[in-house]
Amino acid sequence: MKYVSTRANFNRVNSAEAIKLGMVPSGGLFVPEQIPLIDAEKLVGLVGQGYREVAREILGLFLTDYLPEEIDECIQRAYNDSNFDHPDMAPLSKLGDSSYILELWHGPTAAFKDMALQIMPHFLSQAIRKLGAERETVILVATSGDTGKAALEGFKNVPGIKIIVFYPHGGVSRVQELQMTTTDGDNTFVVAVRGNFDDCQNAVKQVFGDEAYNRFLAEKGYELSSANSINWGRLLPQIVYYFWAYLDLVGKEAVSQGDKVNFVVPTGNFGNILAGYYAFRMGLPVNKLICASNENRVLTDFFATGKYDRKREFIKTVSPSMDILISSNLERFLFEVTGHDGRKISEWLGQLNTEGQFQVDENTRRETGHILCAGYAGEEETLETIKTVFENYGYTVDTHTAVGVKVYEDYVRRTGDRTVTVLDATASPFKFNRAVLKALRGPEADTGKDEFEILRELEQLTGMEIHRGLQQLDAKPVRHDRVSDKGEIKRDIEEILGL
Ligand SMILES: *Cc1c(COP(=O)(O)O)cnc(C)c1O
Repeated sequence: MKYVSTRANFNRVNSAEAIKLGMVPSGGLFVPEQIPLIDAEKLVGLVGQGYREVAREILGLFLTDYLPEEIDECIQRAYNDSNFDHPDMAPLSKLGDSSYILELWHGPTAAFKDMALQIMPHFLSQAIRKLGAERETVILVATSGDTGKAALEGFKNVPGIKIIVFYPHGGVSRVQELQMTTTDGDNTFVVAVRGNFDDCQNAVKQVFGDEAYNRFLAEKGYELSSANSINWGRLLPQIVYYFWAYLDLVGKEAVSQGDKVNFVVPTGNFGNILAGYYAFRMGLPVNKLICASNENRVLTDFFATGKYDRKREFIKTVSPSMDILISSNLERFLFEVTGHDGRKISEWLGQLNTEGQFQVDENTRRETGHILCAGYAGEEETLETIKTVFENYGYTVDTHTAVGVKVYEDYVRRTGDRTVTVLDATASPFKFNRAVLKALRGPEADTGKDEFEILRELEQLTGMEIHRGLQQLDAKPVRHDRVSDKGEIKRDIEEILGL
């Protein structure tokens, strides 16, 4: 299996190289040259198997330059009971008549990013070992809140690797901030950037794309890589849980083998839903992938009109991990729906960069509609949904998952589609506790309370145990307090590396 650039501007590489590089040095993202198919027979054989077995099957199809033992080792180190607090890793439970919730937040940091970031550092270490390393790897991460901590936990104390995380100052929840700033490990660094997530992501992408700067770092003995979902190693492990959820539905006799299902995905950078798309292309029976956005509805508009327009106000919402106007992984999706037209992709993404927008042709837009539906939920609707889900089902969702539930309800009302549907739950409700408590108890419910009082109140109210990754956060010392301007990230990197 080889990997190519979405912009037809780089040679073919194997998976270890794609993972080590993170993104294509001249701009563009690595994608599999061909999407492997999984045969139906194999799929049947996986019903009733554990998460690790499903992972072994799927990962092996893409990481053909890794030995099966190497993949196994990565799986064992990632998906075990010291990292995940549920034996299924991603348990599936029934919500309504034909809807199921896939809880993707049982990893150490309480959001779905753990599903990939617990294993991706091991892929990378293996890649470095296989390819040989003359230089130390520096992982740069831009985060809207959840990736940062998940990456810090995944890469903490991994030999030969340093990790620097950039998050928007004042743009993440208090719990998210404390999760990051209290991280230990002597190879971890955290920087608060005065700006929003897009500023962080753009700054990091610029550093990746700056060839002269990369030469300078190389001379000093460093080379950059990425743990954002622009890295193929981040995306790949997410494909697994789409298969896992389907197999579990078959095992529970909620569907028969071969029946199609829908997936609803709370979306920001388009990474999670793209993994669902790859699963579909591999042969998973999918009816619709439903892309749910918050008020930063750039994707909803794009799928409705074919015009991607990031020139709009950036809105801070109660689902901050989806506050994104540039959804990086859309590039990979467009590469697929245009039949690998790298020239078109370069042109569109170039326009996005220079003019802040691009328009796809009608053919492409129609093509996306076969598999993808999109919608968005406003702030009030999101909070209202948390409340109604709790009242109707006795189940507590976080703000991001609530966006998905609301968009799904609208979808059912609009289409009458009763296909069995899996809703991705992307964070534990405890992670966004303030908003969740207000949704359940009214707008004044949090007045005068710190997040730790709120956590305890929520625990009592919902009967759920506080996620173990969030316990005792208030007792840990803050170890990272660097704040900087968005134009200064090169200086931060140099200071941190001691250059
Ligand atoms: C990152 C994140 C999302 C968005 O996922 P993408 O892959 O960026 O689309 C949604 N919800 C939560 C809780 C997240 O952390």
